[in-house]
Amino acid sequence: MRRRENPYLNYDQQMLGDIYTAGEAMDNLITLCDDFGSRFGGTEGERQAVAFLREKFTGYGLSNAHLEPYTYNGWIRGEACLEILEPIQRTIPCISLPYSPPAQIQGKLLYLREGGPDDFARQHDQIRGKIVMVTSKNPPQLSRWVHRSEKYNRSVVAGAVGFIFMNHYPGLGPATGSIAGNREALIPGISVSKEWGEFLVRLAERKGEVTLRITTTDKTEPMQSWNVVAELPGQRYPDELVIIGSHYDGHDISQGAEDPASGMVVVLEAARVLAKYAREALDRTVRFIGFGNEEIGLIGAREYVKAHQDELSRIRFMLNLDSAGGRKRKGIVLNQWPELEPLLQEVAAEMVAEMPIGQQTSAFSDHFPFFLEGVPTGMMGDAETPREGRGFGHTAFDTVDKVLLSNLREAAANVCRVVLRIANHAAWPVKRRSPEQVRTLLESDANLEIMRLREAVEKLYQERGK
Ligand SMILES: [Zn+2]
Repeated sequence: MRRRENPYLNYDQQMLGDIYTAGEAMDNLITLCDDFGSRFGGTEGERQAVAFLREKFTGYGLSNAHLEPYTYNGWIRGEACLEILEPIQRTIPCISLPYSPPAQIQGKLLYLREGGPDDFARQHDQIRGKIVMVTSKNPPQLSRWVHRSEKYNRSVVAGAVGFIFMNHYPGLGPATGSIAGNREALIPGISVSKEWGEFLVRLAERKGEVTLRITTTDKTEPMQSWNVVAELPGQRYPDELVIIGSHYDGHDISQGAEDPASGMVVVLEAARVLAKYAREALDRTVRFIGFGNEEIGLIGAREYVKAHQDELSRIRFMLNLDSAGGRKRKGIVLNQWPELEPLLQEVAAEMVAEMPIGQQTSAFSDHFPFFLEGVPTGMMGDAETPREGRGFGHTAFDTVDKVLLSNLREAAANVCRVVLRIANHAAWPVKRRSPEQVRTLLESDANLEIMRLREAVEKLYQERGK
């Protein structure tokens, strides 16, 4: 491991001594998950969580802890039913995916395995009028991550009438996840467990065609939600900002303990120790944000960016801590900012911390609305380890017992130290990208394939007058 002299040793020792001897992070996690439940948009637990986060920020001594309200299209789960009509009659347990419209459709099952671009291309002419089923597994031949919404959008664009998302992990039930953002989706989407998905696959193999009927009863309606915002003012350049944030909403079938609460409590913990030990040492303002409604389309983060247009050029860096205290390594994944890599490697050497620094892009968490505006962004994680899948994430089993205190501590320790250094670095080498630079990145990056598919889906919305 590389070493480097540490000018912040005194701050580091105090902050880390506190993090590693306090129970606050785990206490906060338990409160968010066990007391408030999923915190999904529209629930009582969401309101309780929002009040709790503001109180915590205030209690830790942050300035201007407040709520930023916005309206959006919320989603309310209804009963979902999946029936086999032919060649046997049977009802299969299932759940709707967020933003599924209320609908009743029927069609023949078309199983497209992992739902990679090749799977869709191979059977492209057979998709129209069918109910497409894909698994949650990543297509093994691809080096990039294929998100559920890419699989769903490909189905919609090819003319499918329904979508079944089959969990590929045994014993975890169905896996949820939204199929649209901030509006009703075009065709119904449901999820089944691996075991029931395999049942359907076997039935199709043994008997040929399988006819299914999907009935959904979900509702999409206007709601209000809130981002929770607080800050530690910079002592020398208060107008310049470093943002750290995580969403606080989980999926409605789950406690959302790893995703996202393990990240939200790292935001709180970093706020707590920076306020306590490094408040006077921060050159630039550090702003802490709990974003709402990430799970159904990054809605809180999109609203935040919309409301703070005049500040975006003054954001030095936005670090997204979604799920930061979970199983992933506690490094930093930069969203294509090569100039920051050597700088953060030196920071890691100075901290004598395991903090892999790498580059990757993803359109699927709260950094993305900032990324689209050209703001320098990154996420806690590890760019070197290929993404495998969510495991218990997005299932009913993302519960408090899955989160390790050691992971919360390591994440909080790395975050508070990195944020102090980012806020104080004298020769920050990057600034906001121009819209042209952002467009070039969007067009050239295979990880952002979803953006091209979204355009095709957008056209369908317009054609259908939705
Ligand atoms: Zn998340």
